[in-house]
Amino acid sequence: MELQKWGFKENKEVNAAAALTVRHILEAIIQNVDETKTGKPKIHLGHGDPSVYPCFQTSTVVEDALVESIRSTKFNCYAPGVGIDPARRAIAEHLSKDLPYSLTTDDIFLTVGANHAIEVLLKVLAQPGANILFPRPNYSLYEAQSSISPLEVRHFDLLPEKSWEVDLDGVKALADDKTVAIVLINPGNPCGNVFTSEHMQKIAETAKQLGILIISDEVYAYQVFGNKPFIPMGVFGNIAPVITLGTLSKRWIIPGWRLGWIAITDPIGILHKTGIAASIKSCLDLTADPPTIIQGAVPHIMEKTPESFFLNINKLLKEAADLFYERLKDIPFVSCPHKPEGSMFAMVKLNLSALDDVVDDKDFCMKLAKEESIILFPGYAAELKNWVRVSFAADPKVIEDATGRIKAFCLRHAKR
Ligand SMILES: *Cc1c(COP(=O)(O)O)cnc(C)c1O
Repeated sequence: MELQKWGFKENKEVNAAAALTVRHILEAIIQNVDETKTGKPKIHLGHGDPSVYPCFQTSTVVEDALVESIRSTKFNCYAPGVGIDPARRAIAEHLSKDLPYSLTTDDIFLTVGANHAIEVLLKVLAQPGANILFPRPNYSLYEAQSSISPLEVRHFDLLPEKSWEVDLDGVKALADDKTVAIVLINPGNPCGNVFTSEHMQKIAETAKQLGILIISDEVYAYQVFGNKPFIPMGVFGNIAPVITLGTLSKRWIIPGWRLGWIAITDPIGILHKTGIAASIKSCLDLTADPPTIIQGAVPHIMEKTPESFFLNINKLLKEAADLFYERLKDIPFVSCPHKPEGSMFAMVKLNLSALDDVVDDKDFCMKLAKEESIILFPGYAAELKNWVRVSFAADPKVIEDATGRIKAFCLRHAKR
């Protein structure tokens, strides 16, 4: 039968949006890996999921929390769109520890991971004519989601020579009376940077001056291992309203459990008064929820995960970051302008003019996958061409092996 007889067709808009996501881009790169041909086992440094390594397993406390949740028989039911109260309260208490004010249950909305939180917020803010400010480089789901929404996206720069701080003059030049929000990711993905308190205060003052809301993506909260402490943006919520995004995925290393949150960290109450909080609730009533059984485990996870678990994970991340940074210095034609001090990532700049037969960052990633079975994330997809993002959240032996192979690749492709 001829195809054109059917009254439906593919959705090109959705396909184009998905093409911008991390998963989609990595899939295309992974297809180039042929372990039997190279004789080299695949090393995946393309995304931030160390749960595959024995040294990065979650705490047994977290596992017990889920077993307890299942056995209680209390969480086999549907949950409210915003999530169950005990989980919301536990997250409010957890976040309040480092804020100069206390959050309540009403300030917390549970989501299917932080990715869902991003989708919900962008949907709520996407009113006709509105624009939003994203960092460059960025976590690509923001661009992917916005591409199928009426929101206009404008990019400000993060400055590598200034520890990837926000170019605040750029922000002021971009914003106008239709700007609704600025997005920040701290600790940084893809840059592995951590903002200072002074810089965050300046960002908040700029947001206040512009009359815009701050969306602070803090999925790597407390995953810091340099000289700077992690400070939640909500500390500056008395200057400009802040919405904070969080998740169990990264700090507890259970990305498959799909539990994240939106927190209204706004002590003046602007977001409740203007109805943004109510719109977030409405949006959650329309979309999927994290499984109730996972929600049921949240209070136990928040209250009982031992500090020693987090200290150990940060120690492992620091060792991996230090090792990666040192080995990278030894690789020709690549450079990392800023030593990672948080999250699981570093941005690495490619000196393509010194490489033969590698046209851009995408080509670099494709060929590296094919020849060395190593998967990295190309910078173009994070809005920064001719850089690559590397996740160092791996076993040290794997980092040694990977950096050795990247070096061999660069030497082999050196211009003569
Ligand atoms: C991983 C990540 C997310 C998504 O986290 P999930 O909770 O697993 O959905 C969101 N934002 C950033 C910056 C991330 O790195």
